[in-house]
Amino acid sequence: MKRLSELTAEAARHLQGLVFDLDGTLLTDGRLTLEAYDALHQLSAAGLHLVACTGRPAGWGEVIARQWPIALAVTENGAISFRRDGVGVVPIDRIPPADRDDRRQRLVKLADELGRQFTNVELADDNRARCSDVTFDIGERCKVPSAEVVALRRAAATLGARTFLSSIHLHVTFDTDDKASGTLFALAAAHGVEPSAALSRYAFVGDSANDEACFSAFRTTFGVANIVDHCGTLTVGPQVLSEASWGAGFAEIAATLLALREGS
Ligand SMILES: [Mg+2]
Repeated sequence: MKRLSELTAEAARHLQGLVFDLDGTLLTDGRLTLEAYDALHQLSAAGLHLVACTGRPAGWGEVIARQWPIALAVTENGAISFRRDGVGVVPIDRIPPADRDDRRQRLVKLADELGRQFTNVELADDNRARCSDVTFDIGERCKVPSAEVVALRRAAATLGARTFLSSIHLHVTFDTDDKASGTLFALAAAHGVEPSAALSRYAFVGDSANDEACFSAFRTTFGVANIVDHCGTLTVGPQVLSEASWGAGFAEIAATLLALREGS
C-alpha cells in the first residue's frame, strides 16, 4: 500500500467525488468527530460529490441524506439508497415494494432459525431501521469469537442467504448488491453518472471486509490506518493508506486531497 504523501496532484484533481464508509472510517467508535464532520463540509465546499456508503440501516441513511452535505447515502451494503430532493429525500431501491415485503418476512423467519442455532449471538440494536437485511452484533456491544462468526455465515448460506462482514456486524440478506454495485446503481439512478465514469472519477475510503468490493472496483481507493486490524479478512485492500486511524484518518485523506487539488 502507498502512503498518502505519494498521491499525485493529477490523481487528486481527476476526482469528481468521494465515496466513504461510516463505521471505522468517518466515525470514531461510532461517533462523528468535529474534525471528520468539518472535513465533509470542506470537501463539499470544494465541489466534490460526496456519497456515504455503509452497512448501517436504510433508516439511518434517510436521516443523513437530509442532514449532511452529501449527494447520496448508500445503505445496507448497497441494497437501498437515498438522495436529497428539495427539503426531503427519495429512496432508491431496485426491488419492488411487494417483493421487498416478501423478502423481509422470509428474513425474519431465517433470523429466528439462526437464533435457535446460535443462542450466544445477539441481533444488532439497529435492526428496527433496516429494510433489506437482518444484522447480528459481532463486535459492537458483543464480542463474538471468529470461529462462531464463520459458523454463523455457513449456516446462513445453507439457508439460502448471503452475508457481509463489517468491523462490528454480520449482515444476512437475500439481496444481491454489494457496496460497489449498489453505489454505481444509485449514482446512475440519482445523478445520471455512468458506471465507468463513477469508477474512474470517484474515489473510495474504507476500513474493513465489507468495503472489499469497493476496494476492488474503484480506480482510486484509500484505507484509514485501522484497516490493519482487518487485513486478515481482506483479499483486496486499498491502494493508499492514511497515517491516522478512524475519523482522524478520514480528515487526513480529505486535507491531502484538498491541498493537492488547490496546488498547495
Ligand atoms: Mg467500516
